[in-house]
Amino acid sequence: MRPPTILGKTTVPAVDAPSVTPPPLPAHAPPGFHLLAKPSGSTCNIDCTYCFFLSKESLYPNDKHRMSEATLEAYLRQLLESHRTPQVTVAWQGGEPTLMKLDFFRRAVKLVEHYRRPGQAVQHTFQTNGLLLDDDWCLFFKQHHFLVGLSVDGPRELHDTYRVDRRRQGTFDLVMRGWRYLRKHEVDFNILCTVNAANQQHGRTVYRFFRDELGAKWVQFIPIIERATEQTIRIANQGWTEQAGTKRLLYTQTGNLVTDRTVGAEHYGRFLIDIFEEWVRNDVGQVYVQLFDVTLEAFFGRHLLCIHAPTCGYGPALEHNGDLYSCDHFVEPKYKLGNIHQTHLLELVASPEQRKFGQDKRDTLTAQCRDCKVRNWCNGGCPKDRFALSRDGEPGQNYLCPGLERFFTHTGPTFNVMVQLLRQNRPPADVMAWVAEQDARQGAYRPCPCGSGKKFRFCHGDKAPNSPFSGVSRDLTTP
Ligand code: SF4
Ligand code: SF4
Repeated sequence: MRPPTILGKTTVPAVDAPSVTPPPLPAHAPPGFHLLAKPSGSTCNIDCTYCFFLSKESLYPNDKHRMSEATLEAYLRQLLESHRTPQVTVAWQGGEPTLMKLDFFRRAVKLVEHYRRPGQAVQHTFQTNGLLLDDDWCLFFKQHHFLVGLSVDGPRELHDTYRVDRRRQGTFDLVMRGWRYLRKHEVDFNILCTVNAANQQHGRTVYRFFRDELGAKWVQFIPIIERATEQTIRIANQGWTEQAGTKRLLYTQTGNLVTDRTVGAEHYGRFLIDIFEEWVRNDVGQVYVQLFDVTLEAFFGRHLLCIHAPTCGYGPALEHNGDLYSCDHFVEPKYKLGNIHQTHLLELVASPEQRKFGQDKRDTLTAQCRDCKVRNWCNGGCPKDRFALSRDGEPGQNYLCPGLERFFTHTGPTFNVMVQLLRQNRPPADVMAWVAEQDARQGAYRPCPCGSGKKFRFCHGDKAPNSPFSGVSRDLTTP
């Protein structure tokens, strides 16, 4: 965990905004939640082929997609009023939030300081594609202890497959320029990497690139799963960008087909195992991989990631105009909870609709999930991905299930060793010595435990090959 950020007090000029007063504490109000705010809606300065969020623009036709001063003030005030936890996260996302310009976030920081209660610590997080980062942005991030998430899909060849601009040119060089600014100003950053059809067979290469070339200490992997129907699959396969002469197709979580860019279910599991086998030999306690960390926590009954928690519903998404949706993945009319200019944020988050949304995650598990040996860690995955058939032919199985089952089954025994270490008040990093001992005992020429079919020595062992992809200059002095 990162230390909480406590910012200095500043004053804020009054904003002429309609004021929604805080409700009496609603029954079932959560003590805290993790809201993702989209100040520039879903608009972006690049056009990643797999990004169906771009299509959400069509929910707000003839709109500038920019958060107003009044909405910014109402949002931050209500967010801070709603929390009864000592730490509050203010998470900026998009689209691309840098399109809002720096002054918007300067004002946001001032508003947070104005409305923050004594003892309330605030962590700002900011997810960006990195293209517009420069000295000014990074000085600001550093000054206010922002945690910045940078979207990178791996080395150049893998990144540039789908992360392209409107002319379909790869964005790798521009993202690396942004990364250099982050490093130059020593901004805390993590890497957000999608797992897709292009990089799914290169888990270790992708991970090593982040660790060795980018110096990343925090890494998060997100599977790309783009659903489509018989009617939409052809257009969907071309990408969610504006096609010549046609409007963008509005993406909704419907259909049981997937695009060509979607990660294969089995591949997803292999990708994670490939990285796990590298991490558990070298990097435990040094590199934070979100899924590994939350899996270890789950052994102690703490579910820190909604996707693998029994229930969800504490991660709503706020659009630029104050509309609140159940989740970032369900920004569609059916899941709109209301607008914060009419109803207080806490009332929307604690509403019966939102509670049902979160509890349905547990209540709609298939029989296969309910009986599954790794259910306590997996919990059926995200409902948005439950469009496959179970082994018995029951609808509602997670599309990723074969990969999830493989990953949790494979890693469970090693996590169990870490659990035992923690119970003995020893650091989980001691697992690396245990793994080294196992490796020595079982020999260098046995099949590699990652399941690649190669000999251990030439896979995750000491003669593991280097990346087949080119690296990046580590010159940090010339952004
Ligand atoms: S729908 Fe999925 S991403 Fe959204 S809150 Fe639930 S588990 Fe998390
Ligand atoms: S591994 Fe598959 S069956 Fe098991 S809980 Fe996860 S989605 Fe359900």
